[in-house]
Amino acid sequence: MKNLKVNLHITERCNYRCRYCFAHFGSNRDLPLEDWRRIIDNLSASEMVSGINFAGGEPMLYTKFPALIDYAKRSGAAVSLISNGSFLLDENITPPDIFSKLDTLGISVDSVNEKILVELGCCNQKSKVLSQEDLIAIVKRARALNPRIKIKLNTVVSKLNVNERLINIEKFIDVDRWKFLKMKPFRNKNFSNLDLTVSDEEFERFLTLNERNGGESVPESSLVRAYIIIDNRGNLLDNAGDGHKVVGNLLEEKFEDVFARYAFDAQLYGSRYSSPR
Ligand code: SF4
Repeated sequence: MKNLKVNLHITERCNYRCRYCFAHFGSNRDLPLEDWRRIIDNLSASEMVSGINFAGGEPMLYTKFPALIDYAKRSGAAVSLISNGSFLLDENITPPDIFSKLDTLGISVDSVNEKILVELGCCNQKSKVLSQEDLIAIVKRARALNPRIKIKLNTVVSKLNVNERLINIEKFIDVDRWKFLKMKPFRNKNFSNLDLTVSDEEFERFLTLNERNGGESVPESSLVRAYIIIDNRGNLLDNAGDGHKVVGNLLEEKFEDVFARYAFDAQLYGSRYSSPR
């Protein structure tokens, strides 16, 4: 396969506690910068990867992020970031240079209602959420520093926001791409989000309520084996079932060899990148 987009979950650390978060990989020790550079070299050498997305946890908490994004950009890949947004207005953590290296900036936006965000766990320990004003300011900052940047929003649809018409945000900002993801229910002995599950019908109603006039909309009811996750130890993970299974490690093996063992759903993956609604 060619032109794959790979998601590097460079850290598990996060200042939020979202109830739908799947980024629990079992290690809070991040790899050093040199190892991530080797992983990026491995991806480039495979000639199968054209896009690198930085994810987490919250990627801005990876201390060497500016140097890492610089390396990724120089590899020739299209570079994107998905962030909860909470550090993107802080120049000490997010220097202007970050925006100029990004092809796409993705921000998680599940609600404009503070109470709902707190209930979802999308807030820091002081219950500070990303307000609509913060979001508008981030988009303005990003576009001022990089006029070519694409803005993507990600919304996880759950019981708490299923009746919300979020697209009203577009009165204030232009959104190039908006992903609406049906929350993945899961339960283990310490954790359950089953009470937030939405049915297929509820998800469809949400999509109708949030039908956009322009821009690309991508509804996703499943990411199973259609999302390429590299965890914060450099493992390619299989995300079928409740947990994650390690397929192989990109510090130990070539990407193409590990990927060949992954039961990747190429059809679902293709539909994720070519289904404007
Ligand atoms: S902001 Fe992202 S990484 Fe952090 S808890 Fe929420 S979903 Fe997980």
